[in-house]
Amino acid sequence: MTKYIFVTGGVLSSLGKGVTAASVGTLLKHSGKNVGMLKIDPYINVDPGTMSPLEHGEVFVTKDGAETDLDIGNYERFLDTSFLKSSNFTTGQVYSSVIERERAGGYLGQTIQVVPHIVGEIVNRIKEAGSGHDILVVELGGTVGDIEGLPFMEAIRQMKHDEEVAGTFFIHVTLIPFIKAAGELKSKPTQHSVQELRRIGITPQMIIARSEYPLPKTFKKKLAMSCDVSGDSVIEALDASTIYDVPVTFLRQNILKPISKELGLGELNPDMEEWDSLVKKIVQPKNKVVVGFVGKYLELKEAYKSLTESLIHCGAHLDTRVEINWVDSEEVEERGAEVLLGDCDSVLVAGGFGNRGVEGKILAIQYARENKIPYLGICLGMQLMLVEYARNVLGLEGANSIEFDENTPHPMVYLIDNFLDQAGDRQLRTHQSPMGGTLRLGEYPCNTKEGSILREAYNGEKTIHERHRHRYEANPAYREQLEKAGMVVTGESNGLIEAVEIEDHPWFLGVQFHPEFTSRLQTPNPSILAFVKASLSIL
Ligand code: GLN
Repeated sequence: MTKYIFVTGGVLSSLGKGVTAASVGTLLKHSGKNVGMLKIDPYINVDPGTMSPLEHGEVFVTKDGAETDLDIGNYERFLDTSFLKSSNFTTGQVYSSVIERERAGGYLGQTIQVVPHIVGEIVNRIKEAGSGHDILVVELGGTVGDIEGLPFMEAIRQMKHDEEVAGTFFIHVTLIPFIKAAGELKSKPTQHSVQELRRIGITPQMIIARSEYPLPKTFKKKLAMSCDVSGDSVIEALDASTIYDVPVTFLRQNILKPISKELGLGELNPDMEEWDSLVKKIVQPKNKVVVGFVGKYLELKEAYKSLTESLIHCGAHLDTRVEINWVDSEEVEERGAEVLLGDCDSVLVAGGFGNRGVEGKILAIQYARENKIPYLGICLGMQLMLVEYARNVLGLEGANSIEFDENTPHPMVYLIDNFLDQAGDRQLRTHQSPMGGTLRLGEYPCNTKEGSILREAYNGEKTIHERHRHRYEANPAYREQLEKAGMVVTGESNGLIEAVEIEDHPWFLGVQFHPEFTSRLQTPNPSILAFVKASLSIL
């Protein structure tokens, strides 16, 4: 039977609940436990797939093709594990399945209500995510007191008494503000937040206190007393120099002791040695490299979370600070690539949707190609390599992706209306297909070409597995023409073009997949690692 650790948030959002949950999970995993992770989102969207990255940050894609909250990415990066669809659900999914069951006659005779039906569905989904694990760490999105979070709170409260549940532990993450004028740290918001939790019937057993300043012993004692937790269960979480330092700082405060005592986990001695040495290289690296990151969602860097984290992972393994020079693709259109990218060691064009900034990305690609600067193009960043090559090398005027010009005379990137999905089922799509859940999603195999940068990056692997999230594909009708002119297909999956490179360039790679989704602190993604090496000129 599974034990459950619930992580709730109080006072305000953005306190790093996801990193907290991931850190606790990491310590338990490194103690030899089989740990599962689950994020519950109270919004009504079925998944974040149709939300703007500026609204919600990145959409993280799981191996089995679910579009999930970006915290799932944190879990994977910390626990070095591929989690599945079941690691994230939303209010929208809960209601959908209850309503579907009601229509099918699954509740005949009953009035369907939030309690017990919606809450029951939530409990079932949590237990499903927990099955097979020693411990499931569950992070509740939102903040205590939110109206939409109430059914989730009720569900986790009920689980305390569930016979199929081997134990529960409640962690509350809150903020301890520092009032400058008074020169004091304040515990009142935390007390109120805990009171609100208790009103719902949940007494947290641990407080994780986010604070800009260290908490004095007496303050901790007072906090423990007023929040009704034991003295060793107030854990201080100061702003960390890197999120990967958080598990280690928790460990130093013996966070596992009260958890183990309550859940009966025995003596826990996590092995964090390798982790710690990677963290040291993130904090104080020997080398530095500057990557020009060309994108368009620069107002919210969370939109590129997995990619920026993957650069940190690669940096840690190469003892290098990978500094990102953020370049707005629309600005490239106005000011040219050279001015904005001239100081960079390499150029990265990330994925994206929609017309805005596309021409700037094409200029950045042209600049990297012509000046022989290491270049990695991811998803849209690869598609635009084809467009750029077509226009500037093949001389195909007006070449484009049909995403941006439906009537282009040269659709280098097009919509295939017919392909086999992950499960081997035939997928049909047109311009009229619904937007939600119709992308090519999740892990697909990719065969690499001998002698290519791609195969070399993956240590000679003939078949690699990476994750996708896109609607359009490179058009094979132009393959011969491109290859003749020096742009070679170096990755393929079932006839689909997954990677391209050019001859006569030290390091120029475009991949249709998103390598960043499989990068973890301990195992950085090979293609991104090779890109950072190329940026350092150590290949
Ligand atoms: N917009 C492109 C597509 O849908 C690329 C998507 C991406 O970069 N993730 O195919």
